Amino acid sequence: MIELKGLKKNFGRLTVLDDLDLEIPSGQATGIVGPNGSGKTTTIKSILGLVKPTDGEIRIDGELVNNRWEYREKIGYMPQVARYPENMTVEELFRFIKNIRGDQPSNEEELIKHFGLESELKKRMRTLSGGNRQKVGAVLSMMFNPDILIFDEPTAGLDPRSSVQFKKKVRELKDQGKTIMLTTHIMSEIEELADHLIFIVEGKIKYHGPMDELLNEHKEQRLEGAVAKMMEEEAA
Ligand code: ADP
Repeated sequence: MIELKGLKKNFGRLTVLDDLDLEIPSGQATGIVGPNGSGKTTTIKSILGLVKPTDGEIRIDGELVNNRWEYREKIGYMPQVARYPENMTVEELFRFIKNIRGDQPSNEEELIKHFGLESELKKRMRTLSGGNRQKVGAVLSMMFNPDILIFDEPTAGLDPRSSVQFKKKVRELKDQGKTIMLTTHIMSEIEELADHLIFIVEGKIKYHGPMDELLNEHKEQRLEGAVAKMMEEEAA
């Protein structure tokens, strides 16, 4: 379980996360939604140790992880926009990352096949299409079999077939008992993949709970309707 307690982040005078309390259950998928700039990426980056919280506690499986970076080995992260060594070929990049990880066991071959990246392996990163870059990011996030996977807008830029491949993989990871966090603006994707939903507005949690309870509460069949109602309530 990932627990955030009183998490706060200020960038200068701007409060981006305002006393966030969250429990993200293990072995399930949690979707994070909210308007642009509401603090979703900052929340994720705080968990990853890429952003230093101004205040608050982050625990993973009960252990306080603030300023202790070893826990990051447990997490696979697929960022919204990734920077790579652009002159490396795809296969050089995978080898490079494996070297950094001390040749830890990895299943990149199966993932390369799953995402259909075989034809891209000899190409330099800078020549890849946006969608194929995303797929490389997906492979990197999954290849060391992490317990926790965090995906920031993972299917933005993927064609429908690749997006289906990605979702299939996420379902497999869920079946293996992995803990998954995912942000997306595509509500149907959350419906397909997530068990829990976090709705965040201006750095505050407005809803956190099981998907089905949210739909019941708002008498909606579809998440889009329920989220739209919550956004309207916020704007009122
Ligand atoms: P979301 O992922 O929900 O779109 P973000 O977490 O990226 O939102 O951003 C939340 C707010 O924090 C935005 O107003 C953004 O401009 C601001 N912000 C994010 N990173 C920084 C930074 N490094 N410096 C200053 N402001 C930042």
